[in-house]
Amino acid sequence: MDNNLSSNRNINTCDECNSEYYSDSSEMTSLCPECSHILYGYENCEHQFETGRCIKCFWNGKESEYIHKLKDKHLNKSKRIIYVLEFLQNKYGETNIVINDHWEADKEAIGLTDKTGQYLAYISTISDIDNNYFLALENPSVDNEIPYSPAGDFDNISLTELEKILTRHLRLSE
Ligand SMILES: [Zn+2]
Ligand SMILES: [Zn+2]
Repeated sequence: MDNNLSSNRNINTCDECNSEYYSDSSEMTSLCPECSHILYGYENCEHQFETGRCIKCFWNGKESEYIHKLKDKHLNKSKRIIYVLEFLQNKYGETNIVINDHWEADKEAIGLTDKTGQYLAYISTISDIDNNYFLALENPSVDNEIPYSPAGDFDNISLTELEKILTRHLRLSE
């Protein structure tokens, strides 16, 4: 007779963190409870670690680089939004691409300003199409009633176009 509980449960490998986990401990088929919670908001396991593994879900406690960054930045954003953000920040510097997020609940959108905070841009991804974004620009207010005034919307644009328009708006390209 086999008394080892783990041998009776199916073990999957998480696509995100590569840890093994009990397939019945996660609501998603290819993500462990931890990653499915962070990426998609599913219920997490209340981990209980013993000898390097959670005894409830079998997660090994190791985070992927992406999850680590998400936690680090306290950003609850989709991979595509993080990709755009990192692309811009790596190229123009984090001090020039400042996160100003009024859309925290929206994983597929982010607000950015220039370093003075005067010029605002709102980026969102569109449906499931890759390299396809929506960009809305806001200028400093002309009166004190509203903080920003609209400066144009751009729909269905690629990252290259987005970069061009955004950097001009944030006064990063001369
Ligand atoms: Zn995982
Ligand atoms: Zn667990």
